[in-house]
Amino acid sequence: MDLFCQKLPKLELHAHLNGSVSQKTIRKLSELNNKNFNDELSKIDSSVSLKECFKIFDIVHSLTNTIEALFITTCDVINEFNDDNVIYLELRSTPRYVEGKMTKNEYIDTIIKAIEHSKKTTPGITVKLLVSVNRKNGFKDAEENIKLAIEYYKKYPECLVGIDLSGDPTQGDACLNLLKSARDVGLKIAAHCAEVPNEKEVMDILDFKPDRLGHCTNIHPNLSGSLKLFNKLIESKIPVELCLTSNLKCKTVPSLSEHQFSYLYRANHPLCLATDDKGVFNTTLSQEYKLAADTFNLTKEDLKKLVRSSVDFAFISEQEKEKLLATIDNKLTNIK
Ligand SMILES: [Zn+2]
Repeated sequence: MDLFCQKLPKLELHAHLNGSVSQKTIRKLSELNNKNFNDELSKIDSSVSLKECFKIFDIVHSLTNTIEALFITTCDVINEFNDDNVIYLELRSTPRYVEGKMTKNEYIDTIIKAIEHSKKTTPGITVKLLVSVNRKNGFKDAEENIKLAIEYYKKYPECLVGIDLSGDPTQGDACLNLLKSARDVGLKIAAHCAEVPNEKEVMDILDFKPDRLGHCTNIHPNLSGSLKLFNKLIESKIPVELCLTSNLKCKTVPSLSEHQFSYLYRANHPLCLATDDKGVFNTTLSQEYKLAADTFNLTKEDLKKLVRSSVDFAFISEQEKEKLLATIDNKLTNIK
C-alpha cells in the first residue's frame, strides 16, 4: 500500500506554504543565513509536542523574510509535492510585509514567479495560489489582503484562484462580508471551519456556502458538534478538505479512528485528503492516503475513486478539470 499511495497521482487542495516548508529547506536557508536550528528540528522529528512542532512556524518566518528566500522556499515546496506525485497543488499563504525587505505586493509577486518557474522545471505539476486571510490579524489586514487578491486575480486569473480563510479560530471573526466581495469578482473561497466548537459561527459559514471547507471537525455530535450542524453540512454538499495527521497531532480529534473522515465518508459527503502543513506535521500526501486506507479499511479502488472525485473540487475551469482527469486516468492504468 505504501508504494501504491506514493505512485497514486494526487491533488493537494489544503497546503499552507509556510507550514509546508521541509526541514531540508530550513537547513539550506539556515546555512545561507549562518544560523543553526538543528536542536529545534530534531524535536520535530520525534514530535515531542505540538508546541515544539509549531516553533517551526517561527523559524520559517525568520528565514523567509526576503524575496530571495521566499522564492527558494516556494520552489522547494513545489518540487517536494511533485516528488510525492502530486500533479495538482493549491498553495495558500498570507501576504506578508517585512519592513525594509518586502512589501505584500512583492510577497505575492514572488510566489507567482516561483509558480511560473515551476512550469519549466516541474511541468508535471500544476500549481495555483490562494491568498489567505488570517482572522487573527484583524479586519484591516483582511480587507487589505482581499483587495490585493482581487487586484492580482485580475492580473493573473490563471494562477491566483481563490481566498483562504484561516488563522486561530478562537480569535477574530470570519469576515464573511469581505469574503463576499472576493466571491463577487469570481474568486473561489475555501474556509477553515469548525476547528473548535462554535455552533453560531459554523452556521454562518455554512450559510455563506464557501466553495470548500477545511477540517469541519466539531460538527458531528460525537465530536462536540450537533446533529443540526452535521445535517446542515451534509445537505450543503460542500466538499471538505480533511487533514488526518494535522488533526491528530493538534489533538482536535481523540484518535484517527474517531476522525470526522469516518462520518463524512459513510455519509457519502464530498471530501479530499490533504496535508495542511507537511513540514510542521512531518507528513506527505502519500502518507495521508496510507493512513486513511489503514484506518478506515479503504481499498486501492477506494483511493483511486477519492483522487478522481477530488478533481471536481479544484478551483479550475471545467476544461482544466477534464484535462486533469484524463491525466489521472492515464496514470492510473499504469499502477496496481
Ligand atoms: Zn489549514
